[in-house]
Amino acid sequence: MNLILLGPPGAGKGTQAQRLEEMHGLKQLSTGDMLRAAVASGSELGNQVKAVMDRGELVSDEIIVDMIAARIAEPDCANGFILDGFPRTVPQAEALDKMLAGRGLELDRVIEICVDDDALVARISGRFTCANCGTGYHDTNKPPKTGGVCDSCGGTAFNRRDDDNAKIVAARLEAYHGLTAPLLPYYRARGMLGSVDGMRGIDEVASAIDGILENQENGS
Ligand code: AMP
Repeated sequence: MNLILLGPPGAGKGTQAQRLEEMHGLKQLSTGDMLRAAVASGSELGNQVKAVMDRGELVSDEIIVDMIAARIAEPDCANGFILDGFPRTVPQAEALDKMLAGRGLELDRVIEICVDDDALVARISGRFTCANCGTGYHDTNKPPKTGGVCDSCGGTAFNRRDDDNAKIVAARLEAYHGLTAPLLPYYRARGMLGSVDGMRGIDEVASAIDGILENQENGS
């Protein structure tokens, strides 16, 4: 099964993708994570994209499409993948369609996680991840079970993203509404879009997503 999770920054795409990865054996492909890793490694790609990311703007379609095309070809994606943060523009969606068709692959479902803009800043400013395994947490919505210790790997170091601050979040939301939201009619017109209310708790959102995927498997 090949899925796209769509939604504004802070909607919970990463959280739900991690869960789908564990429950359904799919591979989460987060273009944001890949770019942050490139920046951290000091690679040529990382140096190219750092300033754009620091402003909360979108990296060029060409860079992103090349990056994801190479990643989808890796063996760990053979069982299916969840695209998290990609596509983010209509040209990226068109390039994805072409790339998948060329490899005899198909998209099964696009799931939109809907969250009010007002809630996003609070969500984003409270989030952090385990520096060792990448498990995502939130100060109030999803703290580790034991304070300061990762539930998944026992790690004790955590990271907060540089672009998770109010000023940059405003630019990221503007990019979402201007460039990414047009993907909703794009996928709706193809009968692929399912929407869930992302204002509910993590488990309720997860059940709503599972409901959409079960309907998909039953062909309804
Ligand atoms: P994210 O972790 O998905 O919020 O992405 C963080 C940042 O990485 C974004 O603000 C963009 O600068 C860049 N980025 C991630 N995915 C994409 C994409 N599909 N297209 C363009 N830029 C992206």
